[in-house]
Amino acid sequence: MSTVKDQFRDYLGKHGLKVTRQREIILDGFLSSPSHLSAEELYLRLRKDNPNIGYATVYRTMKLLADSGIASERHFGDRQTRYEPNTSEEHHYHLICNSCGKIIEFEDSNIEALLMKTAAAHDFTLSHQRLELYGLCPDCQTI
Ligand SMILES: [Zn+2]
Ligand SMILES: [Zn+2]
Repeated sequence: MSTVKDQFRDYLGKHGLKVTRQREIILDGFLSSPSHLSAEELYLRLRKDNPNIGYATVYRTMKLLADSGIASERHFGDRQTRYEPNTSEEHHYHLICNSCGKIIEFEDSNIEALLMKTAAAHDFTLSHQRLELYGLCPDCQTI
């Protein structure tokens, strides 16, 4: 069974890029961090234990992870690109707080069934699906 690390090594090899320790640290850091971090947030986390890693390296490596299909790039209203692991089959949706930026994930098989039904009604073959709901989280509703 090939691991995500193998997948990344294959990708780097095919593109004539080196497997470097820094790239592997960034991959590990990405996989073990909370989801939806921007490259900058991941960089700030990694920097604590790896002072040699620069922001540009993290930024470029996250682009490579997105290209290789390991990470998905997401945009939630602000201008940040956020990343989450690409866990193929399981679909989840997002609630995003306009005030504090909190991102809550949820799954709902009824929504999924409705989306499939809608696609089928339009003879549409789905490649992927996204659903984002914006508003205020419980903490931000109290004045
Ligand atoms: Zn909030
Ligand atoms: Zn998510």
